[in-house]
Amino acid sequence: RQDFTFAILKPDVTDKMREQILEDIRTNGFEIVYIGSPRRYTEEEAKKHYMEHKGKPFYEGLVQYIISGEIVPLILRKTDSRNAVEKFKKLVGKSDGSELNTLRNRYGVSIVPYKGGINIQYNKIHASDSMPIVLREASLVFTDEELKNIFDEDICLLIKEKLFLQDDGILKGTIGIDDLLKSLTLLQKEI
Ligand code: ADP
Ligand code: MG
Repeated sequence: RQDFTFAILKPDVTDKMREQILEDIRTNGFEIVYIGSPRRYTEEEAKKHYMEHKGKPFYEGLVQYIISGEIVPLILRKTDSRNAVEKFKKLVGKSDGSELNTLRNRYGVSIVPYKGGINIQYNKIHASDSMPIVLREASLVFTDEELKNIFDEDICLLIKEKLFLQDDGILKGTIGIDDLLKSLTLLQKEI
């Protein structure tokens, strides 16, 4: 149950495309555990979500894009193996959609003229990079009630008691990534 990942359908995914993407996700061996209702990030949430990119040339535009419409948050589980986070990153593919047999390649990077070139930010899907990031991103977008329904109690405790998250979403010094991963590994062993 703990072997899950978090994804977001970005604002440029149409209703029709959403159904196709969900179907592709299922076909590739992921169970769609939870589909959040479409919602908008506030600018503050979007900045937390993309904090690792702060200062990069595309950061401001990226934040404006992600708040420009509704996103659809997803919790996915790999049904036939472990490492859902890694496997889903692989299925989503490279940022610019150049990798064959990936969702970003299939659904395309919307081509938007940008300073004479193409802006690769319109790549349809976001996928979390690691388990701590899954929890950070899920806790940003889901309500406490939703978190309770989605995650096991132990994981909710990790999130809600803010054992590892500061208000700005950064991992706390008292429990580093290694500690968090260790505690998650322990949780996984209990399955
Ligand atoms: P990924 O989503 O594949 O992990 P990154 O973490 O590097 O990619 O970037 C986060 C998001 O920022 C990308 O999905 C894309 O929407 C956008 N992005 C990345 N690089 C660029 C760029 N050079 N120009 C515009 N947008 C970008
Ligand atoms: Mg990334």
